Amino acid sequence: MFVRDKILKILKEADGYVSGERISGMLGISRAAVWKHIKALRADGYEILSVTNKGYRLCSEPENILSDRLSAALCTDHIGRNIVYMNKVDSTNEEAKRRADMPDGTLFIAEQQESGKGRLGRLWESPRGGGIWMSLLLRPDIPLGRVSEITLAAGLAVCRAVGCGAMIKWPNDIVIGSRKICGILTEMSAEPDTGTINYVVCGMGINVNIESFPDDLKAKATSLLIETGERHSRDEIAARVLNEFEPVYELLCAEGFGAIREEYARMCVTLGREVRVIYRKNETIGKAADIDENGTLLVDTENGRIPVSSGEVSVRGMYGYA
Ligand code: ADP
Repeated sequence: MFVRDKILKILKEADGYVSGERISGMLGISRAAVWKHIKALRADGYEILSVTNKGYRLCSEPENILSDRLSAALCTDHIGRNIVYMNKVDSTNEEAKRRADMPDGTLFIAEQQESGKGRLGRLWESPRGGGIWMSLLLRPDIPLGRVSEITLAAGLAVCRAVGCGAMIKWPNDIVIGSRKICGILTEMSAEPDTGTINYVVCGMGINVNIESFPDDLKAKATSLLIETGERHSRDEIAARVLNEFEPVYELLCAEGFGAIREEYARMCVTLGREVRVIYRKNETIGKAADIDENGTLLVDTENGRIPVSSGEVSVRGMYGYA
């Protein structure tokens, strides 16, 4: 048994506080060493109180995503069949890119991201134990130009898995009401000369048991806990997302976005709403009218119908766009 596990055992079995001196005596290590391990345990999510003249008391343990529980709930062929489970990582997308030689469908999942990523270098808040911070490593056999459709497939899968009235804000957010519960970030590596895809990394951040958000996010972010008043099992939801993702992804690769377009459009909160888009470097206002066979958003403006395939789209009434 490692020293840290021995310390944990002592704290768990104790009835109340245990002094540092007592622990150091029991394990034959210095009090400074005890303190060092306590600090490391705290960094790993154990809440340990320390009170002068009394000692340490374990208040709560981190809730972990158990990768074996997740695996047991999977009914996929290759998605998530290989799992890289991490306690803490900068970003699961970055880790997947660093380890892009792993098998197709490998899942990278972490308890906490220190610099979770949104689009355009934005940060994704990913507190320990608060959500599902995961990325899939994929090697799709599709033309380069269709990679962005994978974001749409992932959105549909998350929407199905989360329930609770979740809808898709085209292209990459899942919302409940007017607030975001999940963001999806797809990145890829391809050969510039041949256009061959080396790999695609599809990252998803799902807010599950986050109790409250920092002030600057309150108006635009929500979690399943906030919506339902209950905590949810992250491993079960993660497995549901992967179980939903595999068939949608396979259909998409085989037949194109057109095959999932109808369901996507039904789940898409953007359609029919007033939107503000950046089109050819200019801001334009219009009404989101449709999504075409390639997953492109079609917006009706004063100057006719324009296609929006990426970039910035604000939906009126969401995330503070009044
Ligand atoms: P958007 O497309 O909405 O601008 P991104 O996909 O770029 O968003 O995601 C990053 C943004 O999402 C951040 O700038 C922040 O406003 C918001 N955000 C960060 N963390 C979270 C979170 N855990 N839940 C919901 N929204 C978040």
